[in-house]
Amino acid sequence: MLSLSACPDAILINVWHHLLGDLHTFIAFAQTCRRLRHLSEQDDNIWRSACFVSGFGRPLRRGNAPARDMPYRRLARSIVSHGAVCEIRSCIKANACFADHHSRWAYTRTRPLHPDHPLDFHPLYFYLHFSQSYGATSQSRMQGQPHTPTPSPSPSPTPPAIHDSISILLTQLPTFPESRYAQYGPLCAHPNASCAFATFPPVDRLEFENGQGDVFMVVENPEGCTVLDVNRALAELIPFDDQHLEFALAHYQELAFTSGLSLPQFADAVFRDRGFLDDHEYPFLQHIVAHF
Ligand SMILES: [Zn+2]
Repeated sequence: MLSLSACPDAILINVWHHLLGDLHTFIAFAQTCRRLRHLSEQDDNIWRSACFVSGFGRPLRRGNAPARDMPYRRLARSIVSHGAVCEIRSCIKANACFADHHSRWAYTRTRPLHPDHPLDFHPLYFYLHFSQSYGATSQSRMQGQPHTPTPSPSPSPTPPAIHDSISILLTQLPTFPESRYAQYGPLCAHPNASCAFATFPPVDRLEFENGQGDVFMVVENPEGCTVLDVNRALAELIPFDDQHLEFALAHYQELAFTSGLSLPQFADAVFRDRGFLDDHEYPFLQHIVAHF
């Protein structure tokens, strides 16, 4: 009987291709024997394919320096190991909608943007960036610029006309489970949600228009725009003004108090946790520590 270690490379890679779409099994197979591990470490493209078919891309790191990108092999392992410990269902199942789409349309690569090509936006795009109570009674909400992603997502729900900068800010802030905000952030602590493609099919460029039809935000990732790519582009639009600064200050103070730390001690602690890409910057925190 032929053992795995005696199989030609072509046969092993062929077996691997049959496992695309199941990242957990894909990794388990790569660890079956030393030869498979060696083979898998030689070629990051097979890991890229495994991630892509599973619905995951690789968000660009801050500074857009490709040499600093995390290998897909490590990314795949981060996603699988995070899925085993994360308690947020929408993160663990972040690729479920991709799998559903992919079963009907076998897209295997990123699509270029085409204005007439219908796109579905990932549900996390709406969940993370638009509060349900926005525009209702909350006095703490900011007035944002109306915006619409193009091409229009269809048949996804129509995006709200006004984006909620406080919800976006919350995705950048640290939170504890006991936090009364019960929020999701920082998003970069959740590789599964972060790496999910922002759209189906995945595209390498997204343009967002305001109510006047002017493009106010462009998101690009040659390997496919992810939820984190879009989230970070939106976060760049948060104004550095008193209202957002005070909101962030109150948030940090509450978390510091909950932790039994002073604000500088709390800042030291969170500065060390920069997310799975090790590049997160906590909004306003340096300014707050320096001035309050
Ligand atoms: Zn998570």
